Amino acid sequence: MRKIITNKVKCRLCGDVIESTYRNDIKSCKCGEITVDGGTDYIRRGWQTDRANIIELSEYEEEHKIPEEEIRLFQDHLRKKWLEEIKEIGGLEAYLKGLVMTLPEIQKLKKDYKNRQQGVINNDLLYE
Ligand SMILES: [Zn+2]
Repeated sequence: MRKIITNKVKCRLCGDVIESTYRNDIKSCKCGEITVDGGTDYIRRGWQTDRANIIELSEYEEEHKIPEEEIRLFQDHLRKKWLEEIKEIGGLEAYLKGLVMTLPEIQKLKKDYKNRQQGVINNDLLYE
């Protein structure tokens, strides 16, 4: 649910702007047509003749969402990084593994590959 910043409305009949700032803080406009309530806890509206006389002015905090552009850039970064790693390791096996591997797994594979090349014998590095 979005967080309420201001709980505010304007009356279409009298032009009065009213705001509820805390729970059970019920405010009416000058002409008495509309009411607001709820503060930043909830949004409640009241009206005498027509709901359409309520002009919403409430503000909400933007949801904390990672922008799509940022996600796309990160994916591009990972893809590029992955291709670099694969190129360095070489081979179809690595490529196929890479299709289902995460970046840390690829980096481990690369490290193991380098160690094998250097003739390092370490049981921790033996896998499969
Ligand atoms: Zn009014």
